[in-house]
Amino acid sequence: MNGATLGLGTTSAMAALASAQGMSSSGAISSDGMSQGFRTVEDFDLDGKRVFIRADLNVPIENGEVTDDTRIRAALPTLKYVLEKGGIPIMGSHLGRPGGKVDPKFSMEPVWRLIGQHLGNTPVIIANDCVGDEVEARAEMLSPGQMMGLENFRFHKGETENDPEFARGLAELASVYINDAFGTAHRSHASTVGMVEHFTERGAGLLMARELNELTRLLVRPARPFVSVIGGLKVSDKIGVIKNLMETSDAILIGGAMAYTFLLARGIKVGKSKVEEFRVHDAVQIMKMAEETGTRLYLPKDHRAGSEETLSLAIEIDSAEIPSKLIGYDIGPKTVAEFSQVIKGSPALGGARTIFWNGPMGWFENAQFSTGTNEIAAAVAESSAYSVIGGGDSVAAVNQAGLADRIGHISTGGGAMLAFVGGKELPGVQALK
Ligand code: ADP
Ligand code: MG
Repeated sequence: MNGATLGLGTTSAMAALASAQGMSSSGAISSDGMSQGFRTVEDFDLDGKRVFIRADLNVPIENGEVTDDTRIRAALPTLKYVLEKGGIPIMGSHLGRPGGKVDPKFSMEPVWRLIGQHLGNTPVIIANDCVGDEVEARAEMLSPGQMMGLENFRFHKGETENDPEFARGLAELASVYINDAFGTAHRSHASTVGMVEHFTERGAGLLMARELNELTRLLVRPARPFVSVIGGLKVSDKIGVIKNLMETSDAILIGGAMAYTFLLARGIKVGKSKVEEFRVHDAVQIMKMAEETGTRLYLPKDHRAGSEETLSLAIEIDSAEIPSKLIGYDIGPKTVAEFSQVIKGSPALGGARTIFWNGPMGWFENAQFSTGTNEIAAAVAESSAYSVIGGGDSVAAVNQAGLADRIGHISTGGGAMLAFVGGKELPGVQALK
């Protein structure tokens, strides 16, 4: 096969996917799957073949109804592509944490009903399990133009335990394996890793390929200046990300609760703010790394705080230090101004050409303390830089601010995104190679 042709095919499918998802497809995709060592769904002849699609359909369900269909919509392009090419999709996912046994609360049925509505003419055969003779027999009877939706993988202990027998059972159902579940690619489960070795035709779905391409574009030679904005709750979750981005970032802006651990490491008092004392040494080490690599590291210079008595009242504190009885819940106006300048200032003066953002700047779920996060989201949206945002809460914050369509790439993976940007090889991707 010809690498250049593959690249072209992938790029056009990516653009279609981007527009299908209502996302901006600004800039070219820098690498296709091949250059990262895996194939994609576009590299196989699917005609008449049963195609196992491991999707991430882990959606919230209340009273038997899906309450947020974002992940379902994101999974549709690959599903439709397989159908268009004459393949017979056998699709499945995990849903919630049923703990290895059947629990109707976590049944995939509402998901398949909704997918059926999205597909219109394609009948979705809903299986009552994901392995076993009966499911196999029904899968074999399917013809092109039909698809099968499997029951929750996590109704079996073998899924999270990556049990070889369970994995073999899943693999019996199809002859091509496609993993489109970027959000679970950091886990070694039967449906993401164990079953994959049973297929010679295995590859990434369109969503997975897009995630990997966009995040690789961020990690490998980003257009500079490259500005990383890191916030959220815990330093513990983000150490790998910060360290890995240190090499390529020109500036790192730190906000959110985790900034207080950094301030503490500088000997600055932070009152009753959330800190991780046991991470102070990591913060010190990161600040030392920044000095050595010449990375500009910014911390909050003012805050919006609350006290246990007046939670809903934002008190502005015009210094890096926070009084002993107060809790820092958001970055202050001077910090917002400085961070915004770095994000959207002229590139010649250090403003960003590439932006990565993970972690809200404060307790954004509380309107009193959402200003910092909203203003930074606005700065990223206004910037002409290529921007990538990831993390469940960060994506929620950008959606809440109504700015999602002005972001270059919004990652669907929380833990998987942090692992990948932190420089780790994802087992689910490794297995495809
Ligand atoms: P993401 O999901 O985007 O990776 P995190 O899970 O790390 O982000 O952090 C998001 C959470 O951190 C949010 O619930 C937010 O309210 C909280 N948070 C951020 N800053 C603060 C703060 N200063 N005080 C308390 N909570 C905070
Ligand atoms: Mg989170």
